[in-house]
Amino acid sequence: MSGATRPPVIVLEDDPLIAAFMSKALRKSGHVVECFDRGLAVLERVQGDPSALLLLDLGLPDIDGLEVLRRLRASGSTMPVIVVTSRSDPGDRVEALTLGVAGYVVKPFPLAELLASVEAAVAAIPPAGSVAGAPGPTAPTGPGGPSAPPGLNR
Ligand code: CA
Repeated sequence: MSGATRPPVIVLEDDPLIAAFMSKALRKSGHVVECFDRGLAVLERVQGDPSALLLLDLGLPDIDGLEVLRRLRASGSTMPVIVVTSRSDPGDRVEALTLGVAGYVVKPFPLAELLASVEAAVAAIPPAGSVAGAPGPTAPTGPGGPSAPPGLNR
């Protein structure tokens, strides 16, 4: 089923040109896009409504993108995240994968690659309202129980 209300795509990117480029392409593909240029603002945004896909830049002016991801996971959020970065450092990639990202796209990237990753990740998000109650930041575990991908244990 498509149509109805699709989960939004949150674009966290501090470069206005790249943010405009990505959001334009995503909207053209029928996505609802929200743009942010600060990591802390996104962490606030997803606390109330985690039903979204996050496109995460790593080099941000306030806190590092990986720190955004760490805090998300520490708060129990399993929301899908696709890293979109110019950093191809293997260490960054390994940490992002360990934290359960849905994709890791290195700039400059073919637009088709980004759109395909977004499409797959958005399709995997359960429809809003399928989960009773709003999972707040204080919720110890989600209603679905621990759903962390294997390999997350240290
Ligand atoms: Ca950046």
